[in-house]
Amino acid sequence: MSTTHDVTNQVPPLVDYDAADYPVLLEGLVREDAGWAADELHTLGRLAGSKQAQQWGDLAEAHPPVLKTHDRYGHRIDEVEYLPAYHQLMRTAVEHGLHCSPWSEPGPGAHVARAAKFLVWSQADAGHGCPISMTNAIIPALRANPELSATYEPLLTTRTYDFGLRAPLGKRGLIAGMSMTEKQGGSDVRANTTRAVVQSDGSSRLTGHKWFTSAPMSDVFLVLAQEADAGVSCFLLPRVLPDGSLNRMFLQRLKDKLGNHSNASAEVEYDEATARRVGEPGRGVRTIIEMVNMTRLDCIIGTAAGMRAGVAQATHHATYRAVFGKQLVDQPLMRNVLADLAVEAEAAATVALWLAGTTDRAVAGDEKAAALRRIGLSVSKYFVCKRGPGHAAEALECLGGNGYIEESRMPRLYREAPLQSVWEGSGNVAALDSLRAMGREPQSLAVFFDELDSVAGADRHLDTAVAALKAELSDLDNLEIRARRVAEHMALALQGALLIRSGHPAVADAFCASRLGGDWGSAYGTLPAGVDTAAIIERATPKV
Ligand SMILES: Cc1cc2nc3c(=O)[nH]c(=O)nc-3n(C[C@H](O)[C@H](O)[C@H](O)COP(=O)(O)OP(=O)(O)OC[C@H]3O[C@@H](n4cnc5c(N)ncnc54)[C@H](O)[C@@H]3O)c2cc1C
Repeated sequence: MSTTHDVTNQVPPLVDYDAADYPVLLEGLVREDAGWAADELHTLGRLAGSKQAQQWGDLAEAHPPVLKTHDRYGHRIDEVEYLPAYHQLMRTAVEHGLHCSPWSEPGPGAHVARAAKFLVWSQADAGHGCPISMTNAIIPALRANPELSATYEPLLTTRTYDFGLRAPLGKRGLIAGMSMTEKQGGSDVRANTTRAVVQSDGSSRLTGHKWFTSAPMSDVFLVLAQEADAGVSCFLLPRVLPDGSLNRMFLQRLKDKLGNHSNASAEVEYDEATARRVGEPGRGVRTIIEMVNMTRLDCIIGTAAGMRAGVAQATHHATYRAVFGKQLVDQPLMRNVLADLAVEAEAAATVALWLAGTTDRAVAGDEKAAALRRIGLSVSKYFVCKRGPGHAAEALECLGGNGYIEESRMPRLYREAPLQSVWEGSGNVAALDSLRAMGREPQSLAVFFDELDSVAGADRHLDTAVAALKAELSDLDNLEIRARRVAEHMALALQGALLIRSGHPAVADAFCASRLGGDWGSAYGTLPAGVDTAAIIERATPKV
């Protein structure tokens, strides 16, 4: 065919750049005691921004895993097949310690360094972050059984990715999952019907089903099951038994999901599957909550990663695309949209890194930090994750029609975003958990307000918001119906305080005027005139 036209004004792909070269991340790293990890972060950032890693992500997204219940001869194998691209993503994450480093190399900033890396690497593909997150998260829960922990922790914390159906103790590295949700209830896990029967050798046999179990190719799982006379207990269940035979864990189907395509999520049946209890009988929820709290933090980091990826694409596109005689980035209304999206992303990343730092301090024995983390995590899990889908939709729109097309990588950000709010405590559950935290640990509210008061007088909008919050919490009537409002206001005040204390002044001002002062609309791109959009967009635009 003869040439019909020249292709002009299409944007070069955002590729071969350093995804870690993001001031919010680098400043947060230093602030939260993890400046030592900057070189490692840049190495991973360059990889995340490389064409190679983007191809792995694209392939893993386009070719979801396939369940193989049987081998060619009819034997059950219950295995999941993934493309090599998925294994490359997993291998890279494991080699960089995203599945373990705060536990294998503890110390100041350990959780922060890992959080920053998780935020950067998730931008290549979000789905494989699920098993990586669960492996990192299982370790503190597993420590409730010192014997099992001594056996498995060394293998969960190697930097070797060793995929395949083999006995865990013979492998060079392990991946972990969690199996709680049943058909009749996911939020209310005390309604679990899976039964555990203790055997004479101290092990248990588990019989029942799980309606959702992600990453079913994992080597070990924490599973909740009812133990006679005790209630819900927590168990460690290997997929392959020490003699190499398959445990009686049968994969029924993989879920056909809205997004999160590279990750497999299965329906599972346990038929007298062998497991060992972790923690006290009947204290299963208390035991597994150690794991859930870590994965909740990763939901916040994952949302911040999605927002960062969206803003990077949107600002990059606007820099190169011209409309009506100007670059898009120079059109005043687009500047408002980009700056508004960037402010949201910066607030999310800032609170994510702060929570990781608070986790470091809590793990080191700081009780005040532990209380702060408890409340900060629940309000932020609710609110930051809740903000994800709208943010993804608006970032997508900045690319116009191209943003709606799969190759732009924007649709997957959009599909992934609601999941962070659904799992690990869906919106209402997370908001109600904030109330529970305040009720059970009243000191957590006091330390929370101390944190806000530490910047009192710096911004009138924040001062007014904190006063209103105190008034709101002094009225205990109908608190449950107000749980979302309360969690939202707390999360916003926390983000505002953190940005004022250590964020870029232009971002802090824009955040406080809009989100706390109410000088804002109900869609992005409604920041008040006078906001320093130049500074905000400059910080957010990836350097290619
Ligand atoms: C892709 C994907 C992967 C998953 N992977 C796993 C996994 O690996 N392991 C695992 O165990 N689970 C997994 N889950 C399950 C997930 O954690 C649950 O779906 C979630 O916890 C909600 O439980 P549910 O689906 O039973 O909904 P329900 O508990 O029935 O909740 C439905 C709605 O009711 C709300 N609600 C619940 N309680 C209250 C209340 N008291 N007041 C007001 N509102 C309330 C919830 O917020 C939610 O909006 C996965 C889910 C998805 C979508």
